[in-house]
Amino acid sequence: SDHNSIGRRQDTRSREAFERAKKVLPGGVNSPVRAFKSVGLTPVYMERGEGSRVYDIDGNSYIDYVGSWGPLIMGHAHPEVIEAIKRTAEKGTSFGAPTELETLMAELVCERVPSVDIVRMVNSGTEATMSALRLARGYTKRSMILKFEGSYHGHADSLLIKAGSGVATLGLPDSPGVPEGVASQTITVPYNDLASVKVAFEKFGEQIACIIVEPVAGNMGVVPPLPGFLQGLRDITEQYGSLLIFDEVMTGFRVHYQCAQGLFGIIPDLTCFGKVIGGGLPVGAYGGKRHIMEMIAPSGPIYQAGTLSGNPLAMAAGYTTLKLMTPERYELLERQAVRLQRGFEQNAAKHGIATTINRVGSMVCPFFTDKVVINFDTAKTSDMERFKAYFAAMLELGVSIAPSQFEGMFVSGVHSDDDIDATIAAHDTAFSRL
Ligand code: PLP
Repeated sequence: SDHNSIGRRQDTRSREAFERAKKVLPGGVNSPVRAFKSVGLTPVYMERGEGSRVYDIDGNSYIDYVGSWGPLIMGHAHPEVIEAIKRTAEKGTSFGAPTELETLMAELVCERVPSVDIVRMVNSGTEATMSALRLARGYTKRSMILKFEGSYHGHADSLLIKAGSGVATLGLPDSPGVPEGVASQTITVPYNDLASVKVAFEKFGEQIACIIVEPVAGNMGVVPPLPGFLQGLRDITEQYGSLLIFDEVMTGFRVHYQCAQGLFGIIPDLTCFGKVIGGGLPVGAYGGKRHIMEMIAPSGPIYQAGTLSGNPLAMAAGYTTLKLMTPERYELLERQAVRLQRGFEQNAAKHGIATTINRVGSMVCPFFTDKVVINFDTAKTSDMERFKAYFAAMLELGVSIAPSQFEGMFVSGVHSDDDIDATIAAHDTAFSRL
């Protein structure tokens, strides 16, 4: 194994690169959690990735479970994906005119995702959720929305209220810059808490345009929906004439061939996509019931557009990735993720360290707590100092995980048995040092 032994990891170049970047990028980065602030370390500058591994500019290698924060379900630089991007690029990178690739991609999404009759491509998960909210508000002619504490739906104003992901990791309160008038239209309640949803609807039901929910919460660690939770949301939105939006930016094509809605058998009105759907290029999408989606311009009056939307390179990368993700591939992912979970659980028992591991498909999250984690409050019972030490040890041992307790590990379709074994061994060593 080419694991780096503890204390031997080189980081001179990463340190220099970060110092230089800080002079020209806010906090040295283009997305907050990359700065490693919450784990008190210098970010690792990557040079390249191949399959399950990434290689940094100091020459260290890591088994990678970040996968670019979710998109790389077939690993880094998958030969077929790279080939598709190259082939497409040779013919031009963008036209601002329709291309057949966009239709091919849309057909695939509509065929695979139970609730999606028709879909609009955008450039990020944030754009997808932001546009879906506008559509829900335009369609219902209502302005309030309901979201869950610790859920992250991108950084649109309405959704940056009690948000998870980097907002939670950095311990930021609701973001300055979000107008009070906008924030006042967002109701937040605890995840998995149907009683609180009911109370909110009894009070504001006639004004609520939609519920937006991560069908598996992935921005407060990994938190599965309790039995009946998603069905409860479906029922109450129907009762009050509100829309149910599944934010499947993280779960879409990750937890199941038909996304989380296929896994749990719930049909939302609208679904947002991102991450995996772009195969590592900037893509998002939102889709759903035809009569709602056709309210969008140019078939309807609700405006949403994009210079680079449906970009050929992005479509090629996404389409090729989705094609690689056969039902059998999801079974393999599940098997590897289960092995990882069992190994971690055995290590935790061996070292007597309180751990709760939540997992749905290939999303795996060890919390340092003996509590059952069902929402943001219970996720926060995880011992953050322990997480920090664990993160640093794993990095030294050649395993790359997200520098945040509020993010799961993403197992990919190219993590081998050896990768999983080596990761469990590194975890064992890391735990022996906690
Ligand atoms: N929704 C969910 C569930 C996410 O996990 C994320 C990103 O982490 C987003 C939306 C925002 O997507 P993007 O970062 O592509 O804007």
